[in-house]
Amino acid sequence: MAAGLPTLVCASANPGKVAEIANLLAGVVDLLPRPPEVPDVVEDADTLVGNARLKAVALVAATGLPAVADDTGLEVDALGGRPGVRSARYAGEHCSDVDNRAKLLDELALAGGDRSARFRTSLVVRWPDGSEIVVDGVCEGHITAAERGDRGFGYDPVFVPIDGDGRTFAEMTLDEKQAVSHRGRALRALLHELSARSGRNRPCGADSSE
Ligand code: IMP
Repeated sequence: MAAGLPTLVCASANPGKVAEIANLLAGVVDLLPRPPEVPDVVEDADTLVGNARLKAVALVAATGLPAVADDTGLEVDALGGRPGVRSARYAGEHCSDVDNRAKLLDELALAGGDRSARFRTSLVVRWPDGSEIVVDGVCEGHITAAERGDRGFGYDPVFVPIDGDGRTFAEMTLDEKQAVSHRGRALRALLHELSARSGRNRPCGADSSE
């Protein structure tokens, strides 16, 4: 554990997601990996924040430590906002990222026209006393006609952010993705909330420059 930093256990075991969370919280939070004996949570809430909370609450119960969890959905306008909260299981219960991307490109080819979409992340930090911070991050963009790039994870090879230069997330470095992504925005909002919270917890009269 890093001395002086608040500890958070990370609910995700997805290496791509963990790398992004660790990258932005480095130096501010002592981020611990999810203990391997803690099982996956059934993500059956009908909202992103509901699923993030399920994961955070389960991890707090298993470890007794504060936990951070996020849940992300890809909302595609031509598909009425699908896959949304069902993004992980879009192509079926035990499908892979490759299956999900193939289904998305197939459905959009049939739908024709509008390819606008957005990633939305809800992020929950939960403490053992039941208090929590909830933040969101949204990244607008569009879905490509074919996969491009081999970095990142999930739907990254088919998503071009509106605030970028036309490359997909999978063609960007981690820092380039974080600068405009849904998770980058949510994590920066979390950092802001954590610093406001530590300011509130500072004893009266304490020097804020310390
Ligand atoms: P979850 O938040 O881990 O449940 O992710 C839901 C689905 O969205 C999974 O298929 C992930 O692979 C995908 N996903 C989550 N975050 C990202 C991202 O930053 N880029 C691309 N796909 C993502």
